[in-house]
Amino acid sequence: MLGNVYIKEKEIYLYYDDDNIGKRTGMIYQLGYHLTNFTWFDIQNISDTYTAIINFILVTPKPYANDNSAFYDMLSDYIDRLDNYCPYLHFYTQALIKLLLDYPKIKSKAIDYIKEIATDSSDKINNIYKFLFNYDETVGLESISSSPKTPFQAQQMYGFYLKLGNLAKDILIGDINIKRDRIVNELQYITDEKEGLKDLNPKQRVLLLDFKKDRKYYTANELHSKFLPDKIIPPDIKSEERLKQFILEKAIDIVEMYQIDNIDDLIRFELLNLISSDILIKECQYCGYFFVPKGRTDTKYCDRINVGEEKPCNEIGAMKVYKSDKIGNPINELYQASYNRFYSRVRTNKMKKNDFRIWSEKASALKAWYIDAPDKKDEFSEKLNKLGVIYDKKTAMRKK
Ligand SMILES: [Zn+2]
Repeated sequence: MLGNVYIKEKEIYLYYDDDNIGKRTGMIYQLGYHLTNFTWFDIQNISDTYTAIINFILVTPKPYANDNSAFYDMLSDYIDRLDNYCPYLHFYTQALIKLLLDYPKIKSKAIDYIKEIATDSSDKINNIYKFLFNYDETVGLESISSSPKTPFQAQQMYGFYLKLGNLAKDILIGDINIKRDRIVNELQYITDEKEGLKDLNPKQRVLLLDFKKDRKYYTANELHSKFLPDKIIPPDIKSEERLKQFILEKAIDIVEMYQIDNIDDLIRFELLNLISSDILIKECQYCGYFFVPKGRTDTKYCDRINVGEEKPCNEIGAMKVYKSDKIGNPINELYQASYNRFYSRVRTNKMKKNDFRIWSEKASALKAWYIDAPDKKDEFSEKLNKLGVIYDKKTAMRKK
């Protein structure tokens, strides 16, 4: 089991399992927010952080030493950083860390951590078993001691764990990628405006998605729930009076808590709740990744900062719209040039203000007609010139 999850007022309350490493006990986030984030974050960044975690565990004196709080504090920082990207990652991170920390104690049983989380990569798990088998054949697994006696043994141990950690990392990253691709494809299917799907609502489309596959992914899978208090009641509360106090103090509620056994459970829980709600899933018009608008529902852009960008998409997007409206658009440029030409006549008293007002009203109506069709700039230019000719004549008459 990975943890428990419930939903309240369109927010996901995710609790990690008791034996998870780190200081955080869970995350609360807007429904859909991290489901879409899971398809967005920069995978290279995650892979690099996993490399850093492996190195950190290998070079730091083992946590079995007297004071290991500093070790877990540092580890906790890594975990938190990844959780902030997406709490889905939490479970992958746990598997990697537990593999490295528990291998000395439970040996190849520790590979089960990777197996349980990387559910789409069972074929690749064999790479780890193959490595162990080969290592045993050539070096001998018994030579890997948690307390090396010579520098050579220490070096050997480092090499072994580095290889083990990197193999696990590759499997985890690969598995994240497989799940991301699936979520993206399915979100596309659910949100697509294409003919033939238009009349189906998202939930009906999920039924079709399941029908397309040999195994039903969403609708036939079981999720187990229990009605439980939304906060853990400490076991030392024994009397009714103390329980009453605690309930009042913490404003305890009863919620339907779902057991999450793997990442697929969490994806299923979040996606089905998302499409059952009136929350929109959108594709960012700038970066193309899916997102759930936090504020205004008519927003076109996500508020995330992509690799290679310094600003979030909504800021870049706003600038782009401004540019296409004011600067880059030839329709606007032609209009602006014309406007400046006529307005200078008003300033130099060669054109009546009232004539200019009528001209600019007509010209801006013409601009509004063509602004979204910059490819018709010649047609626009011709019409704008015709309109101008009338006022050119008036100006000429005024001159006389
Ligand atoms: Zn974006």
